[in-house]
Amino acid sequence: MYNVEEIRKDFPVLRQMIHGKPLVYFDNAATTQKPQCVLDVILKYYQEDNANIHRGVHTLSERATRKYEEARECIQKFIHAKCKYEIIFTKGTTESINLVAHSYGGSQLQPGDEIIISHMEHHSNIVPWQFLCEQKKCILKVIPINSRGEILLEDYKNSLSSKTKIVSITHISNVLGSVNPIKEMIALAHERGAIFLVDGAQAPAHTRIDVQDLNCDFYAFSSHKMLGPTGVGVLYGKEKYLEIMPPYQGGGSMIRQVSFEKTTYADLPYKFEAGTQAIAGVIGLAEAVRYLTALGLENIENYEKKLLSYIENKILEIPEITVLSQALKKSSILSFVYKGVHAHDIATILDHEGIAIRAGHHCAMPLMSHLGVDASCRASLALYNTQDEVDSFVEGLKKVKEVFKSVIT
Ligand code: PLP
Repeated sequence: MYNVEEIRKDFPVLRQMIHGKPLVYFDNAATTQKPQCVLDVILKYYQEDNANIHRGVHTLSERATRKYEEARECIQKFIHAKCKYEIIFTKGTTESINLVAHSYGGSQLQPGDEIIISHMEHHSNIVPWQFLCEQKKCILKVIPINSRGEILLEDYKNSLSSKTKIVSITHISNVLGSVNPIKEMIALAHERGAIFLVDGAQAPAHTRIDVQDLNCDFYAFSSHKMLGPTGVGVLYGKEKYLEIMPPYQGGGSMIRQVSFEKTTYADLPYKFEAGTQAIAGVIGLAEAVRYLTALGLENIENYEKKLLSYIENKILEIPEITVLSQALKKSSILSFVYKGVHAHDIATILDHEGIAIRAGHHCAMPLMSHLGVDASCRASLALYNTQDEVDSFVEGLKKVKEVFKSVIT
């Protein structure tokens, strides 16, 4: 049984009042809250084990190194990677994508090669490819989406050619919530000899990830969007690609031998982990993964599905609202516009009711202009949200009508 009230007790931040009202946190696509066990392991690490890793022979360093490397194995199992050295720790999804664009793209692409993204990408999955295109004289192709907010697969198939070298697509849209058919898209890219990167920022807290089943070449995600701390992320990459990629950054830890004449690099995964890593953050991420695994991703997904359909039905009570996505496969994100009222005004009114939502372009400006809006509101749910919170949210939205009744026609 999924007991959301018991689960909520694990999240201390949820036990607070904002402007005299209980906090309703619906900004989970931006970052999720952290359970007590994650906070505890981070504190324990600093209180008992803090040391730099991989370099020291003293006990604290050995302990810190063991915990850091155990975290790598934990992530490997969580996403079902073949080996632990296919897990590279980064700062987050953004750095993971930049790493692939810079290192794989910079070394493997030639002028005239093509990179495919979609119309629903986050800036993190647009700008690094633009850098690469500029640097290597490559061509960026963008696959359109339909009016429901789904990738047009026929257009995707037609865009693929022998010139396509990289496809980089979001698993779940951070604006529309659309769950893309990435397994099918990966197989199609491979038929054309292209490699496929999945921007998984919005996925691992909501659905089970199996990188071997997907057969993706790279999968990028962020700890802070899956109950872990900020400042840490993961790049999964197939060994055969990571092996041929040059290091992304130079510094300590990533070398085998340094001289002024020539430097040789460490083996995977250390070749890509230059400098002191976010050790406590990595240990915290592993704890978040244990927490998610103990709850069960299937249980979380089923619960969130019901909550999404509840919020989608409830919001129909407000005719002034237009929901931006009708995708048939959707994760727990609801973006909408309110007739005649700016998204920031709605978010401010809701904040006074204790309700946190996101308003703006959600780091997806090209998508917003495609949708014909400059800003939207986004309520994004997580495993600890409840139907009662959805009710408060809809009641809060009804207050928007009262405040703006003179401008809503
Ligand atoms: N990709 C998607 C789909 C996102 O939603 C986000 C963050 O919102 C990112 C990439 C960037 O993640 P981060 O800021 O953690 O690097």
